[in-house]
Amino acid sequence: MLGRVYLDWNATTALRKEAREAMAAAWDLCGKPSSVHAEGREARKLVEDARAFVASAVGAVPRNVVFTSGGTEANALAFRPGLRRGSNPGAESLVVSAIEHASVLAGGRFAAQAIHTVGVTRSGRLDLERLREGLEGKPPALVSVMLANNETGAVQPVAEAAEIVHAGGGLLHVDAVQAFAKIPFDINMLNADMVTVSAHKIGGPKGAGALILAEGLFGFEPLLRGGGQELGRRAGTENVTGIAGFEAAAKAALGTMAGDAIRLEGLRTRLESGLRQTPGVMVFSDQAARLPNTTLFAVPGLKAETAVIGFDLAGIAVSSGSACSSGKVQPSHVLEAMGFGPEIAKAAVRLSLGWSTSDADIDRCLEAWRKLAGTLLRDERRNTA
Ligand code: PLP
Repeated sequence: MLGRVYLDWNATTALRKEAREAMAAAWDLCGKPSSVHAEGREARKLVEDARAFVASAVGAVPRNVVFTSGGTEANALAFRPGLRRGSNPGAESLVVSAIEHASVLAGGRFAAQAIHTVGVTRSGRLDLERLREGLEGKPPALVSVMLANNETGAVQPVAEAAEIVHAGGGLLHVDAVQAFAKIPFDINMLNADMVTVSAHKIGGPKGAGALILAEGLFGFEPLLRGGGQELGRRAGTENVTGIAGFEAAAKAALGTMAGDAIRLEGLRTRLESGLRQTPGVMVFSDQAARLPNTTLFAVPGLKAETAVIGFDLAGIAVSSGSACSSGKVQPSHVLEAMGFGPEIAKAAVRLSLGWSTSDADIDRCLEAWRKLAGTLLRDERRNTA
């Protein structure tokens, strides 16, 4: 019997062996990092070593890494009115690109009327001119632009956005959840003020992540108050095991990132040329710089929901561009922002590859797609006739 093929790595990844081992060892520590005794100090050392590694991985200073329960919490923690750099006035509004993750679009502690969106181009990249116009003549804003989009994989012009944002006295937050350990970057190269990363997208455990701050940021306020953990920025006993797994996964992923990127891009090219044999297939953001592992495609008239179920029955895990947590397919807000109508925005299927994806997995996926495309397209067209 053939095993399953997992092609949904942008949703979450398999736990890396290195992370599992580090976590198994961490479960045996009985102390908590805030205790002064030897058991506590041992747990503290593990957390501080991980903090130093995560900081070095993104070019930041260890004390500026705030461990959180993942990307969603890190994004929520970042968004607070009043944040500022140096003597600039505090940000009064939040400006986000229209293709951000739901946890960014939710806007943290900004009131709904203080949250504004900026559009993207047809290829799914932030429209820098619209960003410039949106900020012009306004009080400083906190701006959030993701480094790579979770649906299309399109890499965003973050450093260019930073220049525009800083010229207006504002701050830039970068959601790097999908980019971390897939493409190289550091907080200085991006000129970002805050960066979000998450462990489970890189082979670490679900429920761990970090918000990383640049030097010289003022007005930061915790979401969770109580104990003084994380230098008073996030109260609560640290997730020692999760943090251990996060560090080990990051070490492993960054160690093989360059080779993985070349190999995955090769597999993705083969995958896309196979998909394109079906008449009418559209591959989104293929004209933009993209993550090497991501393909978002659609065939107009073929609902994503139907395709995802068809793939699943054939043993292949993929996702629709925009399944929400209930699993129901909504039109993709990313494709809508790129100017596609609901018929296409409801048809997008995402295939995302990871370090263990093999040539044989791509063969299985293409074989399943050829069978599916034939029958599904015939059935869908019959139903809508
Ligand atoms: N940001 C992006 C771009 C994501 O893709 C995700 C997860 O899908 C998140 C944030 C949320 O991260 P987490 O699942 O760790 O809360």
